[in-house]
Amino acid sequence: MPAASCFPGPRLRGCLALAKRPLRRALLLLLGASSLAHAELPPLSLQLPVACVPGENCFIQNHLDHDPGPGAVDYHHGSLTYDGHKGTDFRVRTFQEMRAGVAVLAAADGVVKAIRDHMPDGPASGLVDEQALGERLAGNGVLIDHGDGWESQYGHLRAGSVAVTPGQNVRAGEPLGLIGQSGLAQFPHVHFEVRFNAQPIDPFDARDPAHPDAPGGVLWNPRIRPILSYRHAEVLSSGFSSAIPDATLVGDPPEASFNPRDKALIFWVNFFGARRGDKETIRLFDPQGHILAEQSDIADKHQARTIRYLGRPRHPSLSRWPAGNFTGEFILERDGFVEPLIRIRKEITILQ
Ligand SMILES: [Zn+2]
Repeated sequence: MPAASCFPGPRLRGCLALAKRPLRRALLLLLGASSLAHAELPPLSLQLPVACVPGENCFIQNHLDHDPGPGAVDYHHGSLTYDGHKGTDFRVRTFQEMRAGVAVLAAADGVVKAIRDHMPDGPASGLVDEQALGERLAGNGVLIDHGDGWESQYGHLRAGSVAVTPGQNVRAGEPLGLIGQSGLAQFPHVHFEVRFNAQPIDPFDARDPAHPDAPGGVLWNPRIRPILSYRHAEVLSSGFSSAIPDATLVGDPPEASFNPRDKALIFWVNFFGARRGDKETIRLFDPQGHILAEQSDIADKHQARTIRYLGRPRHPSLSRWPAGNFTGEFILERDGFVEPLIRIRKEITILQ
């Protein structure tokens, strides 16, 4: 058999920074100096802002950035964020799932302050003309006033889906619109942003703006906290193809195709959460369980989304791939973790 043929995978950033965050912490420290102790955030209990189950049929791809400088770090000291990100991004896997419709829900009771509903959804490729968007980077959205200085914003909603009007009272769990890809968004999601007195607050680590270095609390209702537990990395999709996967289409059918007479068999994985130093191993096995191809890489930087693929050319003496179950395997390992953060195996059956 010829040597394995490996293809380096392209890497994509999942979402563009909306705006550089101001030096909030420095300013707040100054404010805090004049309002020592006892300043606490008024209570706010948040319900899930999406009608899907995080970790099952939707995913948190980005959290709020807690790094006031040019870096980016999420509340869990992880990399599921980017510089200046002020909210929590709940995504669905594909453009097709977005088209099927996933409701965005009011996270708490309140009054609708503003809406926008006329902007088109971006292309499935995620390639957005930022210049044309002007100031409307958040796309279609809903802004809700919850009282006591609290408000929540829901961005990138699907064109024409907004179901509420300004001045309307809404209850927690009430549909506001649908997950979309309007504005500056590279994948279908809702940007959920909580603010207290106009300051972005992380619902996973809500700190009193007057005391930003004091321990933070959690705004999520205790009943939904288990399904919102931190997930370091997540596979969005995987599959087999005969050509290098188009990074702009991965996850949207037709994801890929494979014919037994094709000249190459490629296994690909589309995932997010990779950090610098992670070990990424991808393998392809023949029906007898022998390794056809194998490649390991150490991630050289944090990645919002990564596509890895590994292929093997068909032996020139064969007119088609032999029948049987071929298996693709992908493993993501990180120092300090006993178990891999990701381990998946997927089979493709080639018929006689
Ligand atoms: Zn966002």
